[in-house]
Amino acid sequence: MGEAVRAAARRFPGVPTLEGAGVRLQRSFSNPEVPLFDPFLLLDRFGSTNPEDYLAGFPWHPHRGIETVTYVLHGRVEHGDTLGNRGTIGDGDIQWMNSGSGIVHQEMPKRAEGLFSGFQLWVNLPAREKMSPPAYRGLTAREVPATPTDEGGEVRVVAGSYRTIEGPVRGISVDPTYLDVRLRPGETFETPTPLGHTVFAHVVEGGFTFGNLAEPPAVTGETVLFGDGSLFRAKAGAGGTRFLLVFGRPLHEPVAWYGPIVMNQKDEIATALRELRTGQFIKEKRPLVEG
Ligand code: MN
Repeated sequence: MGEAVRAAARRFPGVPTLEGAGVRLQRSFSNPEVPLFDPFLLLDRFGSTNPEDYLAGFPWHPHRGIETVTYVLHGRVEHGDTLGNRGTIGDGDIQWMNSGSGIVHQEMPKRAEGLFSGFQLWVNLPAREKMSPPAYRGLTAREVPATPTDEGGEVRVVAGSYRTIEGPVRGISVDPTYLDVRLRPGETFETPTPLGHTVFAHVVEGGFTFGNLAEPPAVTGETVLFGDGSLFRAKAGAGGTRFLLVFGRPLHEPVAWYGPIVMNQKDEIATALRELRTGQFIKEKRPLVEG
């Protein structure tokens, strides 16, 4: 049986955005793109050698109805939340935080030598899980398995799998795959993708061609959303490349989005805002820490 190689559906160069208490970042996609990336809601890229671009950070703020996935490439982020988690995530570490019914947290980048860089991805929760207890997963770099590709590249597997290597983040309804792929110059990379799942790639550095290899290459900072197919294929450009490859099962549910709170219906947003005013937003303060 022939493989249907995924071709680009839409391409997003990234938009300079000011977020949090004044963090300069590149926004790849967000609420204007709903429902194109379903079940993914947002991808932000941080990257600066100037601490003034990031030190203001993301002071205490609420989330409800989503998962936030923070991946630090270089630098450190101090975090704390209403579940009682406190700590620092550094180079190569992942924080996969399920806000469920409600969490209040802060995410504060610390002054870095040279570059501070990383990503935050928002993954939507299905309606039936939006008011479930929140959960926090912190993964250090060495808990994320890395496996070589055929031609000298490397794949880090955060969630889902590549070949026989399974990532440590499991048991999530939208069945996400999150790979960090590094390819040598000219190397070809292929991995199967479930039909009907949403697939996108974000170029961390370098560039690559993809699909039938006839379209203009994806370049640093670009996000490519792919059409349906059973196979993802990329071929690194002359300088090699590094990219995030993310896919998951769409929810096909209505989205009501207000800042850091993403529900299904407007009245659920109104409820969340009322609960924030009256101190009833947090339902769960016990730590629910998962490996
Ligand atoms: Mn947050």
